[in-house]
Amino acid sequence: MAEGAPGLWIEGALVMPMDGGPDLPGATVVVEAGRIASVGAPDRVPPPGVRRVDASGCVVLPGLVNCHNHVAMTLLRGYGADLPLRRWLEERIWPAEARLTDEDVRVGALLGCLEMLRSGVTAFADMYDHMDAVADAVLESGIRGVLSRGIIGLGRPWEAALREGEALCRRARRDPSGRLGAMIAPHAEYTCPDEVWAACLAVARREGVGLHTHVSETRAEVEECRRRRGGATPVRFLAEIGALEAGCLAAHCVHVDREDIALLARPGVAVSHNPISNAKLGSGIAPVPALLAAGVRVGVGSDGAASTDVLGLWDELRLAAWQQKAVREDPAAMPCATLLGLATVAGARALGLPAGSGTIAPGAPADLVVVARSGLHRTPAPEPAASMVYGTRDSDVVLTVVDGRIVMERGAFPGVDHERLAAEAARRGARVLADV
Ligand SMILES: [Zn+2]
Repeated sequence: MAEGAPGLWIEGALVMPMDGGPDLPGATVVVEAGRIASVGAPDRVPPPGVRRVDASGCVVLPGLVNCHNHVAMTLLRGYGADLPLRRWLEERIWPAEARLTDEDVRVGALLGCLEMLRSGVTAFADMYDHMDAVADAVLESGIRGVLSRGIIGLGRPWEAALREGEALCRRARRDPSGRLGAMIAPHAEYTCPDEVWAACLAVARREGVGLHTHVSETRAEVEECRRRRGGATPVRFLAEIGALEAGCLAAHCVHVDREDIALLARPGVAVSHNPISNAKLGSGIAPVPALLAAGVRVGVGSDGAASTDVLGLWDELRLAAWQQKAVREDPAAMPCATLLGLATVAGARALGLPAGSGTIAPGAPADLVVVARSGLHRTPAPEPAASMVYGTRDSDVVLTVVDGRIVMERGAFPGVDHERLAAEAARRGARVLADV
């Protein structure tokens, strides 16, 4: 925790606490030593030296949690449009990724971290290569990251990748900032032979961390798995090998049946719903209302910038709502308040963030965002939750706080020259994609 962080008073906002309690109009959020000290009417005057923020006309919301990302893929942003998943991976993404250096990944990851902070994301789960460089970017940007080294066992040596994943767990455990977490990441059922899964599970159990993996993203993936495994779906496979009990962050879960959903409702399992990536790659629409009805823990993720383009979650929330309402011809299929909960408190639990994360309540870690409600595109806004989901743009986020520290204020990032960084990322991205 940020013990030395200066105090912060955010005054006069409409606070949406996401802790089950009502919205609090005209409230003051007092932040001390990295935690929320009080919410509502303060019982004292601000002490000298404290930073006071006039948030009248704004909403204060817990920071959003992006549950599935490959953040350094900003260097490949939008690359390989209009291809199906397997061809997109094999013909475009994997050849380009093979060219990435540690420094490419650090620059791309830092760009992605700043983009997320700009949009109000305060924590994310990541899976990629060169993860020490991603961890460096997390620490430099001020965001929280639950990181994992992606492990692919098909035609590649995987043992070294697993050792890197193990080392990342040790680094996260020892990191004094408290903003790094780790998981073990077998990429998917179809990219990891059984021996890789067994080795990943053993390491995850030894390190006391969960697994982060891609599950049932496309119909073809599920059909292929059933053919190879005597009818077992990817979810059933994970259950059979004990991966669900180990704690599992399952990205996508688009093509899941009733039996799969019952298995995903087990404690320790969380699903990352990534609607834009699933739509752009033509993968389908995850049955989120059925998952929620069965008690599955669901968060929202962006996936990498090559398949989603934009790493903030506001567009994801809108699409998550629109898809379910339209397909089911039911405007109540995905309520606004539910979506805000998925993006905050449910996402924080999915990532195993510290207790209280994803809420604005005394004692909770001070990860929060201040969002202006005054833009032309959202005035007037008689229903705040609806306005947040359907009306918010990244540029409406005026302040992002992680661990009690201001890490983004009106588009600027303390200590980071984001324009120079963007130019560097563009130069490196062009080099990586040249003559792939
Ligand atoms: Zn992914």
